[in-house]
Amino acid sequence: MRLALIAHDEKKPDLISFAEERQDDLERFELMATGTTGQRLIDATGLDIERKQSGPLGGDMQIGAEIASETCDGVIFLRDPLTAQPHEPDITALLRICDVHQTPLATNLASADAVLDELIRQLDGEE
Ligand code: PGA
Repeated sequence: MRLALIAHDEKKPDLISFAEERQDDLERFELMATGTTGQRLIDATGLDIERKQSGPLGGDMQIGAEIASETCDGVIFLRDPLTAQPHEPDITALLRICDVHQTPLATNLASADAVLDELIRQLDGEE
């Protein structure tokens, strides 16, 4: 199962804490992330993560393409709701394509736990 991780700059510390807390669970997935998020997570946790472009340079669109190709099963995207982002159109497109493909999407820490729990439940069911 493949999971995408993205965090806006103000939310990167939250995603790193989340990844540290749930590292054992995250290790069960093939992980991908936008560029800076991925590097920060690798540095903090040593998780094996495929890094896409940085979000503002097209990373959100690359993850959107994975969803459109049905090669990504879930997205944890800690958005910063208080800061304007230069790549807002890409962010909107990513959220939309998740809805088109019924891809589980968490946009804050509370729902991140819920989405990860559900994907783990599905993984356990497959075994
Ligand atoms: P980043 O991109 O991980 O490269 O910072 C995230 C984003 O801003 O969408």
